[in-house]
Amino acid sequence: MSEPLHRLTYYSRNNLTVSPEAMTRAIEQILDAARRNNARLGITGALMFNSGCFAQVLEGPPGAIERTFERIQRDPRHRDVSVLEFIPIERRTFDAWSMGYVGRLPGQAESYANVATRSGFEPSLMSGETLFEALRQLVADEETAPA
Ligand code: FAD
Repeated sequence: MSEPLHRLTYYSRNNLTVSPEAMTRAIEQILDAARRNNARLGITGALMFNSGCFAQVLEGPPGAIERTFERIQRDPRHRDVSVLEFIPIERRTFDAWSMGYVGRLPGQAESYANVATRSGFEPSLMSGETLFEALRQLVADEETAPA
């Protein structure tokens, strides 16, 4: 039997008040740790940062997600971590990404802003499904864009 899979979707607020360059470096550090740890634990997913908020999808074995998310929640680089969804899934969506990062392409920040505007940037008003779908679409755009 194949391993059970879950998907966790959350949203949080940036705690770092730094220059855009320092923020880019901070995100690189987060992605380095995420890719190193997630590959080992069988976790895949996507991360987005925009307008002071992070949004992330983690998918993989539920125990590995829980352990990883406990670390993420304690991270002082963000706050107000709000889980929108933690559900069983049949297959991975981000199977090529130990942690994909979206935001590189022109227009992506805008797409995310549209999602955020509809919810007024209130995690409590944003559904897990909406956020997951937005990240899925943005990652698909990354995959088809020229390097
Ligand atoms: P290291 O990367 O070696 O870090 C050692 C310790 O220092 C950790 O406690 C870390 O939290 C802390 N630290 C490192 N750099 C800074 C800094 N600049 N400011 C403050 N504290 C710092 N980790 C994952 O494994 N998978 C993920 O998918 C993942 N997603 C994340 C998403 C977000 C939005 C954020 C903010 C963090 C995420 N992290 C993720 C990082 C996670 O919170 C831990 O920092 C990381 O898992 C610790 O990895 P490590 O044990 O290899 O420690």
